[in-house]
Amino acid sequence: MTKTMAASYREILDRIKRVQAESPLAAKQVRLLAVSKFQPVEHIGELLALGHRTFGENRVQEAAEKWPHLRREFPDIALHGIGPLQTNKVKEALQLFDVIEVLDRPKLAESLAHHWGMPGRRTQALYIQVNTGEEPQKAGILPQEADDFIRWCRGDKQLPVEGLMCIPPADVPPAPHFALLHEIARRHALPERSMGMSGDFATAVQLGSTEVRVGSALFGERA
Ligand SMILES: *Cc1c(COP(=O)(O)O)cnc(C)c1O
Repeated sequence: MTKTMAASYREILDRIKRVQAESPLAAKQVRLLAVSKFQPVEHIGELLALGHRTFGENRVQEAAEKWPHLRREFPDIALHGIGPLQTNKVKEALQLFDVIEVLDRPKLAESLAHHWGMPGRRTQALYIQVNTGEEPQKAGILPQEADDFIRWCRGDKQLPVEGLMCIPPADVPPAPHFALLHEIARRHALPERSMGMSGDFATAVQLGSTEVRVGSALFGERA
């Protein structure tokens, strides 16, 4: 098990490096976010032992159970919140996550702005989630509303928006979605583009991703 995860980890890092070297649009720095949802703490420990420190979790509840004691042992961990966030979980999310990648609607922006000054806030940066495929069941601001929403969050709400995030539709080529996200980020000079998962991270890196969110390719299939 340990050997398998170490091998997958190195393969993924090598693949990212290779694609970066070959692709004119690739970012100079690409962060590997290890998506540890549903993974027991023992699996996370194996990655920590390899020196990895950047992780993503989907649910506030699960993150609160797993991460506070890992942080005591590894204070340089960076934890990103990447799953849908309800406004009644905002305070807890602001204490748990260094980055929240799922700012996707005005009501959530209002709530984040309202609680930003709270004591014990850990969150330093926000990414706006864009629903590039305009899927009704998926979270994210629609592409045609993204420009206004980004300006409003940074301007009126004074929120530190540093990037964009997308999850392309499952059954189509992801490249146009990554290109669209990159283009919206470019218009607003946003430095971070969180795009690419286990199945498509190489394509995302080719198209300028600064952060790939990889779960199953790293940890194996989730239970
Ligand atoms: C689960 C999840 C991932 C990782 O998915 P894999 O296909 O297992 O790499 C990435 N991003 C988000 C938002 C997720 O929910």
